[in-house]
Amino acid sequence: MKYLTKTLIPLMLIVFLATSCNKDNNNTAIPEYVLVIHGGAGNASNRDINIKQQEEYKAKLNEALNIGEKILSDGGTCIEAIEKTINFLEDCPLFNAGKGAVFTHDGRNELDASIMQGSDLSAGAVAGVSDIKNPISAAIEVMTNSKHVLMAGKGASKFAKLQNLEIVDSSYFFTEDRWNSLQNMLKSEKHGTVGCVALDKYGNLAAGTSTGGMTNKKFGRIGDAPIIGAGTYANNKTCAISATGHGEFFIRYTVTHDISALMEYKNLSLQEASDMVINSKLIEAGGSGGIIAVDKNGNISMTFNTNMMFRAYAKSTGEKGVAIFK
Ligand code: ASP
Repeated sequence: MKYLTKTLIPLMLIVFLATSCNKDNNNTAIPEYVLVIHGGAGNASNRDINIKQQEEYKAKLNEALNIGEKILSDGGTCIEAIEKTINFLEDCPLFNAGKGAVFTHDGRNELDASIMQGSDLSAGAVAGVSDIKNPISAAIEVMTNSKHVLMAGKGASKFAKLQNLEIVDSSYFFTEDRWNSLQNMLKSEKHGTVGCVALDKYGNLAAGTSTGGMTNKKFGRIGDAPIIGAGTYANNKTCAISATGHGEFFIRYTVTHDISALMEYKNLSLQEASDMVINSKLIEAGGSGGIIAVDKNGNISMTFNTNMMFRAYAKSTGEKGVAIFK
């Protein structure tokens, strides 16, 4: 009995504490799970989005956050959390993804989405689709149920149908607001791509992005959102990232992979790598936008070189935040 209380119980306690609380290199506790979302970046000012609209956006970001957080806290995987969080944002007309997608130059909606899993670098994407209600779910099907990474246009729709995903008439994506944006040819195009990155209880990272692209884009134009390494990237060795902004720059500068590579090969922290790419390289090149990211230790980055980025995050530690402007 004496042996039990003096030796065995304290020993068991030490083992329990050591295994139940993972630590990173700086000896800080790694949160059990983390979720970060974005709803697009842009150069709108405080005056362009009035207080009531700001509250509406924040309320929707909060709802989306709660959906993903519940899945992660219940032990769901990062892919499950990302799918359901992005599905909610795709169904919300406030954001430029799914219903609410912007129009192309010739008045159509052509949607892009991608997903990547950091544990095995598997990925899936769809591009230029105009009848899949939730493109992020189609991207997940490409990742899990096909030998391919990227499927486009009619073929992608055919594949999604075979996977029993919901197919809608392309008129489903029509919203008055986006139509007016095209008609007015606003110089400051509407942004609102959506993205979600997560670290789950199993230590796995994943990232997903879904968008209608850029207002007034040319027919057939594909942006960075479905391009792995440009708009989306995840690697358990480093981090998971989803981007938003002027897609052509994000493709040419392979933005999300660049951030991961700076961490992997140069040992930069997530924030240092994000700053170098978003606030230095991209600015010099003239590319506007931002990223959300979470690293393997649960550190997050929400870095943008525009006036605003709709964004929110939640950690298992109880930390939470929603913001629009800097
Ligand atoms: N990156 C998206 C694209 O170029 C647009 C955006 O994020 O606003 O298609």
